[in-house]
Amino acid sequence: MTILRVALDVPLARLFDYLDTGSGVQTGQRVLVPFGRRQMIGIVMGRTSESDMATDRLKPIDRAFVEEPPLPAATLKLLKFCSDYYHYPLGQTMLGVLPPRLREAEPARLPQKVGYRLTASGIASGLEAIPARSVLQKKLFAALQEAEVLESTVLSTIASGWRPALKQLIDKGWAESIELTGPVPGQATTPHAAQTLNADQQQALEAMLQAGSGFNVWLLYGITGSGKTEVYMHLLEAMLKECGSQALVLVPEINLTPQLESRFRARFPQQTIVMLHSQMNESERLHGWLRAQNGEARIVIGTRLSVFTPLAKPAVIIVDEEHDASYKQQDGMRYSARDVAIMRGKMADVPVLLGSATPSLESWHNAQEGRYRLLTLSQRAVTSAALPAIHCIDTRLVRPEDGISEPLLKAMEQRLQRGEQSLLFINRRGYSPVLLCSACAWVAPCTRCSARLVVHLRQRRLRCHHCGHEQRIPPQCPSCGNPDLHPTGHGTQRLEEVLAQRLPAARILRVDRDSMRRKHAIKEMTAQVHANEVDILVGTQMLAKGHDFPNLTLVGVIDTDSALFSPDFRAAERLFAQLMQVAGRAGRAEKPGVVLIQTNFPDHLLFHALQRHDFADFAASLLDERRMAHFPPYCHEALLRAEATDYEPVRAFMARAKAAARDFSRDVLVYDPVRPQMERLKGMEREHLLIQADSRKALQQFLQALVPLLREMPQGTKVRWSIDVDPLEY
Ligand code: ADP
Ligand code: ZN
Ligand code: ZN
Repeated sequence: MTILRVALDVPLARLFDYLDTGSGVQTGQRVLVPFGRRQMIGIVMGRTSESDMATDRLKPIDRAFVEEPPLPAATLKLLKFCSDYYHYPLGQTMLGVLPPRLREAEPARLPQKVGYRLTASGIASGLEAIPARSVLQKKLFAALQEAEVLESTVLSTIASGWRPALKQLIDKGWAESIELTGPVPGQATTPHAAQTLNADQQQALEAMLQAGSGFNVWLLYGITGSGKTEVYMHLLEAMLKECGSQALVLVPEINLTPQLESRFRARFPQQTIVMLHSQMNESERLHGWLRAQNGEARIVIGTRLSVFTPLAKPAVIIVDEEHDASYKQQDGMRYSARDVAIMRGKMADVPVLLGSATPSLESWHNAQEGRYRLLTLSQRAVTSAALPAIHCIDTRLVRPEDGISEPLLKAMEQRLQRGEQSLLFINRRGYSPVLLCSACAWVAPCTRCSARLVVHLRQRRLRCHHCGHEQRIPPQCPSCGNPDLHPTGHGTQRLEEVLAQRLPAARILRVDRDSMRRKHAIKEMTAQVHANEVDILVGTQMLAKGHDFPNLTLVGVIDTDSALFSPDFRAAERLFAQLMQVAGRAGRAEKPGVVLIQTNFPDHLLFHALQRHDFADFAASLLDERRMAHFPPYCHEALLRAEATDYEPVRAFMARAKAAARDFSRDVLVYDPVRPQMERLKGMEREHLLIQADSRKALQQFLQALVPLLREMPQGTKVRWSIDVDPLEY
């Protein structure tokens, strides 16, 4: 009899021992075990002959899922690394990344695959036998003629309502279903021919192919429309030639996946492609996961979580839009899927390709330092698609009313008359107001560190979210004496109403996380815009990405100043990325696009760089600032967050944490605890504490010492705390 070491989804940093009664279960396989009064699903991490617990107190496992393939050793190793690096319990790490179905006590298996093909009589009658009005039947018939056998998942990509039509074909004796074994070709359509690469693209591809199949991080930097996706596809084509090899392609948001999916499917019709993202139903996710693991899926395209998908034979990992904040998980294990992808590439010894028009400063810095290899695409691939002209509207001269200035309104009116579309982009992400002098651009600075102070209107105080410094709001600008000081970000709330009033004929569609929550909302929105059923889109960063709207010729940008002078030192970097992206929406086709940006500070370097579409220049100046302020990437950070229904236990916990840290904080800087902008969120009082170190190693050593102490600390009335390594939000 042996003892199994099992990972369970409980918030304890340890494994649990159970007796194995000869199940033959292997490391990486799932088991069902008794835990307290419940049963839980666990993963076997290994076997041992001795336990800290007396053997007669150990309980046997209830069940072993021996018929399932065990998680590969590489996946276990990657998850162990993540658990250590992000200081998150191993069991929760392991179980947390599994598709929901694998957390249930049911054996997981792939469904029997059913395919469809034409019968001999179907082939004999031919396509002409189907009446012209049976459009769908004709379409399916033609697809079957071409592909010989088609799977149901493929048929759904041809037409969502294919079942009744196919049944009619079967009833007529023209088609039949068969059971499939082994992989089937992905799709029926004729493959899209590869584009002939331009010189930049060719150079990038050749550099990667010449470097071979081992680990390497590439940063593919190319403006929107410069043909990065085309380079990915050429790379995959070359890499997937090797028998059984697989590619993992990470994409940031759900709204990009349908587009990318259809491009990849059209290009690789013979390969099985699986998609993995949270909007898929549970069985789709399970099946995708299993097909990736058994090697059947040659291309896996997915969002953040899919970075953990087991692969039989990984050959390359691509991270599209690598700078995107949605790669960072904001609860549970707070991992960065981009960083995990790089670690995974290193462990598997395969190349990792990061692509972006506006790389994160972390990646850009790594490329400058030679740790990543930079590949540049400097022009738009379709030469007729000119870059949009970018202009600023100086809102000190033309005051916006309820958020919108007259010139912007005029421009929208013109588009309306010409039957073209406009997009109004509101930048409100992670918004914290700062105190800004509109006369001289003075922004209330922290006297103790290089951060900016945040306005807390409720208490009429200014606070530093970095170091904890606090002061009252000054009556006038200390720099020029202007008594008219305002927090940034006023007046955008009513925007939609105002538009409806001022342009009553316009059909307005709001696009944000709330309005796009439903499953097909994004597809419908895209279709509406393409069908010209919308004149003005009003939205947040969701709109900035990926969509291609040929009739959209104007982008208006509201409220940039709160990001320009944000207390969050990453705000300017994000603003630039968003504006570049949103500018990329205008004038993609033959109609030239214009971007109008409302700002009090048209001379800001950010706008100058933006007008020249010059990321490199802007990145260099931001990196200078970061170096001087000693912010990432010139230091490494972790954030300890705590919350509880009352503030006092939070304060006490943080004070104890800070005191405990003093003993071993030689190589790190531990700031004072700070209350974030949203002091109280969802009924919880919050506080956080920032830790900075010169090296990752010093930071990790510090956390390794601190976290066990935090786990043992008396937490009074339920203080919840978490560690965020490499935080993006404060
Ligand atoms: P990105 O991913 O950088 O935004 P895409 O790969 O989507 O760029 O390319 C933008 C457009 O240019 C697409 O319509 C694509 O088909 C086209 N394209 C890309 N590369 C080429 C090329 N070498 N020749 C012609 N068209 C190209
Ligand atoms: Zn001033
Ligand atoms: Zn400060």
